[in-house]
Amino acid sequence: MSLRDWFAARKKATLVDTEREKREVADGLWTKCTDCHEPLYTKELLHNLNVCPKCGYHFRVEARERIAQLVDSGSFRETNVELLSIDPLGFVDSKPYVQRLRENTAARGPGDALITGKATLEGQPVSLAVMNFFFMGGSMGSVVGEKLTRTIEQALEARQPLIVVAASGGARMQEGTLSLMQMAKTSAALARFAKAGGLYIVVLTDPTTGGVMASFASLGDLIIAEPSATIGFAGKRVNEAMLRQKTPADYQTAESVLRNGLIDMIVPRPKLREKLSQLLAMHMAPALARVTGG
Ligand SMILES: [Zn+2]
Repeated sequence: MSLRDWFAARKKATLVDTEREKREVADGLWTKCTDCHEPLYTKELLHNLNVCPKCGYHFRVEARERIAQLVDSGSFRETNVELLSIDPLGFVDSKPYVQRLRENTAARGPGDALITGKATLEGQPVSLAVMNFFFMGGSMGSVVGEKLTRTIEQALEARQPLIVVAASGGARMQEGTLSLMQMAKTSAALARFAKAGGLYIVVLTDPTTGGVMASFASLGDLIIAEPSATIGFAGKRVNEAMLRQKTPADYQTAESVLRNGLIDMIVPRPKLREKLSQLLAMHMAPALARVTGG
């Protein structure tokens, strides 16, 4: 084969490959990494807990997938399933709020932007609340606030540690002041939980912002974040306009808030379950020592 033929054959093969790759990406066989742009075999990505095996980019995950990643298989019992959002203000933006709720529920499943329940993690009982950013940006309306408050109260009653995985754009504007009230309600419930000696661990994932960060997400006894997660209150653009100055490149990242003392540690997702299990065991150790006299 002449060099010219070889180049022609290679070009043709590349074109075919590119077309096939496009088709496979569309079919869901491949996923392009948001950060390094490498094509990733979707099955391998899922197996790696939705963390890019090439560059370590943490993809956002649905609440139910997160629960499956964290707790013992088959141990999760969902709670507060009877709570459903209503439209107290008759709110309409680009579409009616009721329609938005219906569409999000159809696309993402029931449970609104927060799934709550009880489970075991490496055999240790925990109360769990996991936010779903894919449901209306993980926004906190009355139902999210009420589900979390009940979970805190249920954890208090059962004397169980509480783990919350946060992912939110903030308060749900479609519920106006009612959504802002959830900040005070969840914080008050956590204060009662803390006073009774309960352990509250919060995991901040990308992004945790607004009224959620300004309430329960920043009140953990231990605050963990995933690498590179956006963590903050108002967005970078708003803050720059207000401060009238440029913010640093890593502003509002997990790494910068760790450096500035807002959180306790950054744990990559593949290590998260193990770390939570260690922290729960450390918390339980003194109580066990009291019981056994050790
Ligand atoms: Zn990557």
